[in-house]
Amino acid sequence: MQENNIYDCIIIGAGPAGLSAGLYASRGNLKTLIIEKAIVGGQLQVTHEIENYPGMDHMTGPQISDAMEEQTKRFGCEVLVNSKVTAIDLQAQPKKILCDDKEYFAKTVIIASGSDHNHLGVPGEEELGGKGVSYCAVCDGAFFKERELVVVGGGSSAVEEGNFLTKFASKVTLVHRRDELRAERILQNRFKANPKTNIIWDTVVESINGDMLGVTSVTLKNLKTNEITEFPCEGVFIYVGLSPNTQYLDGSVAIDGAGKILTNEKMETNIPGVFACGDIRNTPLKQAVTAASDGSLAATMAIAFVESLEEVAV
Ligand code: NAP
Repeated sequence: MQENNIYDCIIIGAGPAGLSAGLYASRGNLKTLIIEKAIVGGQLQVTHEIENYPGMDHMTGPQISDAMEEQTKRFGCEVLVNSKVTAIDLQAQPKKILCDDKEYFAKTVIIASGSDHNHLGVPGEEELGGKGVSYCAVCDGAFFKERELVVVGGGSSAVEEGNFLTKFASKVTLVHRRDELRAERILQNRFKANPKTNIIWDTVVESINGDMLGVTSVTLKNLKTNEITEFPCEGVFIYVGLSPNTQYLDGSVAIDGAGKILTNEKMETNIPGVFACGDIRNTPLKQAVTAASDGSLAATMAIAFVESLEEVAV
């Protein structure tokens, strides 16, 4: 064990939950490292406008993410980006984390690795990825000026990002498999009032069609009539839910039937000294503000855990 690889607290994931945990842990004097597989910000990086984070009005997701990162680092938290955790031993003390063939050790671990966008799994989806199929309106929307777009899904992501895409597209058609949306009511009303939008109900995408140059249409199936139609479009944005990033845990932490990590109200998992926060845990509300709240509580409990280890050692 090299001295520089030993931490009081290692946080996996640098979304709002992980950054908030990093702020509270480092401000609480824990030697803290955040390990992030991609870039800092998590879902904030792919969300255009955040209008329900109290006090942060008219700010984009990336702006809030940048502010959180800067504040967290100011208190000494180290942040390692583009580094994927591949294996973990949470039963050992200190706990061992393997990341890019390097070993890290920590007295406490906070799991904040969030979730990734689900794929539809239809023909054409993978082949046309980057050629008209996207999971990120903020990243790719500007490529579709005056084009016709399809958005798939009926949740808040589909409706909110669909609305955002009307800034560029000539028309945005939402394809949803049921006859009602599950998105927040305020987002639904805004989408329906937008003259550039349209909704096709009770319908699924059977395939995404195109060629070397990009998407040209989607094949749709109406689930009530079984009618198959071809709908011309030049881009398809897919928002059909999120799945928790728990693969690297290899079953070592207890999860619920939906694959979310089970925690109590203190963010404690079934393993002493291991906490989970944000979208990856069994929470009824998935918002940046609840993720940040979870992170602060997880870090506070991690500080108490480290103190309890020190008391035993005395
Ligand atoms: P979500 O709420 O799970 O919605 C996923 C949508 O995709 C549902 O409408 C679902 O249909 C549909 N779907 C799932 N699998 C499908 C398939 N194979 N084919 C066609 N449609 C499929 O996911 P989300 O919209 O990404 O939101 C995730 C979480 O973030 C939620 O808790 C949400 O509240 C939150 N969020 C909040 C905001 C905000 O507050 N502004 C913005 C974005 C997200 P059914 O409805 O039929 O199940």
